[in-house]
Amino acid sequence: MISMFKPSWMFRDIYHVSPEFLAGNHIKYVLTDLDNTLIPWNQIAGDEKLAEWLKEMKKYGIKVIVVSNNSYSRIEHALVDYDVNFVSRALKPLTFGIDRAIRKYSLNRKETVMIGDQLMTDVFSANNSRINSILVKPLVNNDSWTTWFNRFIERFVFQLLKKKYSDIHWQ
Ligand SMILES: [Mg+2]
Repeated sequence: MISMFKPSWMFRDIYHVSPEFLAGNHIKYVLTDLDNTLIPWNQIAGDEKLAEWLKEMKKYGIKVIVVSNNSYSRIEHALVDYDVNFVSRALKPLTFGIDRAIRKYSLNRKETVMIGDQLMTDVFSANNSRINSILVKPLVNNDSWTTWFNRFIERFVFQLLKKKYSDIHWQ
């Protein structure tokens, strides 16, 4: 059961996830969470650093698709300056949004990774969809109230993971 919450890899933030690392692990498609993964949950849009990261991915032929539980309008506004496809109302921890992205863009699961800041939604749904996952630390520590309960459970699950797996560490 606890293995369903185990991320394939852990990085401090998306900027530590390089196209070289992904290519080295045969990853061609990045599904990524939006809030607190790409953009702080309480900000409207991303910055120049995010634009650079997305450009780097594109240069290496890695396709990035945002898979978020948030609304169409929130995501559309957030990504207006970037050339990125997205799936809204993804219903994570269910696999609905991930599976939709996989079907819509004809992705190979083995070549796909889900990046996100929550074990309970992003990593759990990735594992249930049988794709790779990367856990990152949230960009800002004060979450929206809707994720408070998830964070509470997450601390407990994280302790169990650390006990069971020796490779639970931030890269
Ligand atoms: Mg998030």
